[in-house]
Amino acid sequence: MAPDSLPAALDYPLEPPLADGSVVEVAPGILWARMPMPMSLDHINVYLLRADDGWTLVDTGLNTEAVRRLWLHIAATHLEGLPVKAVLCTHYHYDHAGLAHWLTGHFKVPLYMTHGEYYMLRMASLPPSDPMPDAHRDFFTRAGMPDAVMAPMMEALHADPFLAPAPLAFRRLRGGDVLEIGARRWRVVIGEGHSPEHACLYCEDDRILVAGDQLLPRISSNVAVTCVEPEANPLQLWLESLDRLDELAADTLVLPSHQRVYRGLHARVQQLREHHAREFDKVGAYVRENPDCTAFEAMMCMFPKLRSPMDHLLGLGEAIAHLSWLRYAGTIRRVLDDDGRYTFSIMK
Ligand SMILES: [Zn+2]
Repeated sequence: MAPDSLPAALDYPLEPPLADGSVVEVAPGILWARMPMPMSLDHINVYLLRADDGWTLVDTGLNTEAVRRLWLHIAATHLEGLPVKAVLCTHYHYDHAGLAHWLTGHFKVPLYMTHGEYYMLRMASLPPSDPMPDAHRDFFTRAGMPDAVMAPMMEALHADPFLAPAPLAFRRLRGGDVLEIGARRWRVVIGEGHSPEHACLYCEDDRILVAGDQLLPRISSNVAVTCVEPEANPLQLWLESLDRLDELAADTLVLPSHQRVYRGLHARVQQLREHHAREFDKVGAYVRENPDCTAFEAMMCMFPKLRSPMDHLLGLGEAIAHLSWLRYAGTIRRVLDDDGRYTFSIMK
């Protein structure tokens, strides 16, 4: 995810809760809590939806002892004597679903996810293959990633401290499903590009959107090509998802997974479109000025200040996503050179 310096056309009506087990009531029967994350993005928002017979938890936080303690504190303090009834994860990323296994086991409740996200969660619960399979190594080699960068990146993946088991059963959410939780009806709106089948929840009557990572107010979500699906065009899927979200009501209260609850959905959609348009221009100009460049070189131009091995993984995936979008749009072309690397040039 990259910080963006766009002017704030958004309205933030609420002070956020601290990541200490306190909650803020966003609307009657909707609580907002924060879970800490030991990284530069230092928190994730989680939401609790009340029905007469119990609560649905939306997203879980990371698989850490601190977050488990906070959930126990919240359950003991803020649930008005009602039980936890269900856990719903917007998508499989480990800040969102890392405690799905523990929460569903502890409270003996079902997990709700889309099919695409659930199976990604199952995959993500397995340690990465060691050594890296050839098909995956080829992806990084073709991208022009030097071995000196690839080796520490693989080490970082293997040393992932947040690897969590996945629940072995789930209840499937599909786009268009309507969930009745208390007095509210929530329609499942699918987003793609950041993850394969990301569930947002939209309450039409109250104009509230539980947005997950689809519409963050101040950062653009990571949209990346990965070694598992090297020919994907996730930015096209992401931009089409923005179009779908743009159809929701202008005064929708957006409950994002990071940063603050806000109004200004249409302005935010437009900012994100413009952000990617600028990135397409930047990457396109780089390719024009540097014919036969690799994705790794384009990444260094897009993100000159990458630090950690994980930054390289995310940054490379984002650079390839922009190159792929330009390639599928017919703006640039790609050839495999004699060293087994893809190089990019502007279409004449
Ligand atoms: Zn995510």
